[in-house]
Amino acid sequence: MSIDFLSLTAPGVAGLHPYQPGKPVEELEREYGIKNAIKLASNENPLGAGEAAKAAMRTCIDDIELYPDGNGFKLKHALAKKLGVNTDMITLGNGSSEILELVARTFVTPENQVLFSEHAFAVYPILTQAIGAEALVTPAKNWGHDLDAMAAAITDRTRLCFVTNPNNPTGTWLTKTDLHAFLKQVPQHVIVVVDEAYFEYVQEPDYPNAIEWLDEFPNLLVTRTFAKIHGLAGLRIGYGICHPGMADLLNRVRQPFNCNSMALAAAEAALADESHVQKSVETNQKGMQQLMVGFDQLGLKYIPSVGNFISVAFDKPAGEIYEALLKQGVIIRPVGVYDMPYHLRATIGTQAQNQRLLDALETILQ
Ligand SMILES: *Cc1c(COP(=O)(O)O)cnc(C)c1O
Repeated sequence: MSIDFLSLTAPGVAGLHPYQPGKPVEELEREYGIKNAIKLASNENPLGAGEAAKAAMRTCIDDIELYPDGNGFKLKHALAKKLGVNTDMITLGNGSSEILELVARTFVTPENQVLFSEHAFAVYPILTQAIGAEALVTPAKNWGHDLDAMAAAITDRTRLCFVTNPNNPTGTWLTKTDLHAFLKQVPQHVIVVVDEAYFEYVQEPDYPNAIEWLDEFPNLLVTRTFAKIHGLAGLRIGYGICHPGMADLLNRVRQPFNCNSMALAAAEAALADESHVQKSVETNQKGMQQLMVGFDQLGLKYIPSVGNFISVAFDKPAGEIYEALLKQGVIIRPVGVYDMPYHLRATIGTQAQNQRLLDALETILQ
């Protein structure tokens, strides 16, 4: 007898499609029979993890038979000190993606709406659909969030709103003034997540640190991650900062050992390793400049970005160019699922990696 699993699913699950991650280097090399492929597809840090984080991981190996500290005491204390918040405002996650999922599972029912912008992070619609809630998607403005449209879209049924600053995959960002004005308009029955996965990369003076507004807006949750600037994507560790009352609920829904020992130790070491962060920011700024100059020379348009990635536009749907780049051993990211079929998103790499992308594009476009 065979089971019709689809008929057994929670509402919404049947309509889900798996998140498409960037293609792994090994997979490309296996499929195309090539060597020395490079991946600029998942906004990973081209410098890797810092030495301090790697050393902390090695020291964990000897105690790996023990469960991790389910409360993440040491990492929470280090974060609290660094960010100027109390430890009871912190929720640790298996990547910040887990915090996004926790907040959705904690507050959203199938009767609710979840609000986010067109071209925003692909995880939001997946979470919404998995719960069977309704997605309220507002059109983008100049590729970024239209905060007026988002505020106007809120109804009595809206329970959760995702704001990505800066946004992935567009790299657009919201100013202090604009984001603060938006938060003031949002009623208290809507939880607002400000997703700051790329916070540390942004150098614009008018870019807000939403953590500073937590006292003013108890319905605010700010998420950050060790996956991007700290180069620890493989470990899966991120965090959310919010009002202790909200954090208490997130921690009730959370699995007791959601963050592993190595991740906790490496994150704590990475947080203290300011020189690695600084080096990563500088590499990113130089690389961003290099790619923009290169795209200009190739006559390609792009969306100005403050993240560690940039979306570049072509004059036809970009699938063929993506494939041609793969054949040259360069993996970047198609963004068709973000309703951006003419764009490809490239992560800023090392100087040599960026040059390889530009050279490959030049060859293809000739
Ligand atoms: C990469 C990313 C995240 C989080 O990634 P984790 O690895 O789960 O911490 C969250 N939001 C956005 C917009 C991202 O691009």
